[in-house]
Amino acid sequence: MTEWYCYKDKVQMLDTKITLSYMQMVQEVPGIQCPKCGAAYLSEKVVRTVVRAAEELIEEK
Ligand SMILES: [Zn+2]
Repeated sequence: MTEWYCYKDKVQMLDTKITLSYMQMVQEVPGIQCPKCGAAYLSEKVVRTVVRAAEELIEEK
């Protein structure tokens, strides 16, 4: 598994849950957070997965 480091603090990012709002949908997704400055990021893979799922839901309507 890839290890992530905060680009500012050079400390290892920790796993966390991020509340994501997208197209009026709110969901918790896995992400990473810097324990020092609190910056949180989603992995690119997660973003793609969530956005695609949301688009499919919308298209079904
Ligand atoms: Zn940081």
